[in-house]
Amino acid sequence: MTAEARRSELAASLAEVEGRIAQACTAAGRARDEVRLLAVTKTFPALDAALLTDLGVVDLAENRDQEAGEKAVEVASLRPEAHSRWHMVGSLQRNKARSVARWAAEIQSVDSERLAGALDKAVRAARDAGERENALDVLIQVSLDGDPARGGCPLDDLAHLAECLTRAGDLRLLGLMAVAPLGTDPDKAFELLARAGETLRKDHPDAVELSAGMSGDLERAIGHGSTCVRVGTALLGGRGLASP
Ligand SMILES: *Cc1c(COP(=O)(O)O)cnc(C)c1O
Repeated sequence: MTAEARRSELAASLAEVEGRIAQACTAAGRARDEVRLLAVTKTFPALDAALLTDLGVVDLAENRDQEAGEKAVEVASLRPEAHSRWHMVGSLQRNKARSVARWAAEIQSVDSERLAGALDKAVRAARDAGERENALDVLIQVSLDGDPARGGCPLDDLAHLAECLTRAGDLRLLGLMAVAPLGTDPDKAFELLARAGETLRKDHPDAVELSAGMSGDLERAIGHGSTCVRVGTALLGGRGLASP
């Protein structure tokens, strides 16, 4: 496929996703600008991400440090004017903190105090080395089914982790992120997340973000107050069986 054909394909799917978001906002009585769209470009080439930036998409998301770091560099050289913001939405090992601090504007998958500490140190080191300017925006990934194997902070530990993040000088807590657990009712999951957000804002009034909703359930997430939908498949197409 030529880049031109791919651009038209992406333009069409972006228009469709934008239509779904707008309709969901209207249905929920919310303004369209209350919801950010993150294009999840994992497994897709840097050129796709560059074409999305041509179409006005600013926020790009990835779930693996190595792939993301390489892609961010490539997109910056393909589109030096674009000023994309890269988001990490996948589980993260502490030994990758120094690397993500180079490319990520925001990490949505912070789920432990040890990871938070490693990220804070890594951001400070990256700023000292002139590799980044700003503090790192973070969301706490919440585990809605309490299954530690799937990542995410258990609801019971949320207040403590939020407190740690506020003390970290180079991290800025923006809110919460969750993935609706497989095989459960997404409405229940998103409602639980919204309630956790309300509780969090009693002590952290600026932590207003709720990142919830993907290709299959973005309308329901917006109905429950999502401020950020993370969309891969509906924008870029299927990732195939071998992909995460
Ligand atoms: C891949 C991924 C998405 C996008 O999922 P789609 O169903 O392809 O839209 C969203 N959030 C996270 C954390 C992901 O890993």
